[in-house]
Amino acid sequence: TPNHTPSPPDALPISCEDLLGYAAEALRGRRHAELVVDDDRDAAVAGLAAIVDSGERLSLELRYRRVDGERLQAQLQAGVALDAEGAPLLTICEIVDRRPLYEATREAEDLRTRLAHVARIGTLGEMVSGIAHEVNQPLTAIANYASAARRFLRAGTGAVDIEELAVILDKIAAQAERAGQVIRGLRSLSRRRDAVRERLEVGVLISEVARLVEFELRARGWRLQLEVEEALPAVCGDAVQIQQVLLNLIRNGLEAMAEQASGEAVEVRALRAGSGWVEIRVRDSGPGVPSEVEERLFEPFYTTKAQGMGLGLSICQSIMSAHGGELRYRRGEQGAGAEFVIRLPVAMADEQAERGAVDG
Ligand code: ADP
Repeated sequence: TPNHTPSPPDALPISCEDLLGYAAEALRGRRHAELVVDDDRDAAVAGLAAIVDSGERLSLELRYRRVDGERLQAQLQAGVALDAEGAPLLTICEIVDRRPLYEATREAEDLRTRLAHVARIGTLGEMVSGIAHEVNQPLTAIANYASAARRFLRAGTGAVDIEELAVILDKIAAQAERAGQVIRGLRSLSRRRDAVRERLEVGVLISEVARLVEFELRARGWRLQLEVEEALPAVCGDAVQIQQVLLNLIRNGLEAMAEQASGEAVEVRALRAGSGWVEIRVRDSGPGVPSEVEERLFEPFYTTKAQGMGLGLSICQSIMSAHGGELRYRRGEQGAGAEFVIRLPVAMADEQAERGAVDG
């Protein structure tokens, strides 16, 4: 609508009829703001007023009220046309129906939620039977020890052998501790801390973890070999969680080496892996993983160790997938020890910088 002093437009082009459901006649002469829902009205008026002064373009997400009362999610795009003298002549507005976009976004969101749920249920089933078994064992043992202690006390004619009773109570305590460990492991698996996502230098992550285990290695005459590729891009994630994973992998390596009472070093190497990924490889010089164990490595509660919990690798794996990365076992040559590979996506800013460097 031509308007020499185009404050907000006071009439809408007829093409809005389909979008808003008003007959053309009903729309003619109505103020734009009347069609916007109450909550968005001030923003609409202010937005249009501002571009008349500034000459800039406007792009605003607004909700309109259709004639049938339904809400229309839309985007208002507007600009001011100037006359030959540079004075504002008219305001041109376009209302873009955004419902298809919102609909698609909502569907994608739904799908993601459903997938995450399915993934959780999948491991949950395994977990529940594992928990039942793992907690049941110590509980049965506790019940047995307790009834042994009761028999012992009842049968005792003379002085009760305090020492023997203490041994039984120690065993009860140890089994209760074991059941507690299972529960604690589970809680750390299911605890949902707020995800921390920061830019992390892989070299720093590794050297901090190295400091924690170096002493333990050296005490056994082993070495910890670190190798971090030069100018490695940063990754994005939760430092504590990633270090927990590294620590776990190195500890597993140490335990494997201790078991066969041989071995010489644990190697930790960090390098670029294709574009957009950083790989951290943890390799020990233990006996390696037998193929029947390999299949079950990441299964919750699967362990070959007398004191093992079998939760380490499954927790590590879920931490990595929460980071958009992965944890895999890589089979090496016979007798070459075990190698676990972490892959983490490069932090966004670094990825762009890298690409820029390549393009430039
Ligand atoms: P845990 O260490 O409590 O047993 P994990 O989930 O960390 O639980 O490991 C599961 C099993 O995988 C171990 O019991 C062991 O048999 C095998 N494993 C893990 N790391 C190694 C390794 N570096 N070398 C050989 N076997 C390993």
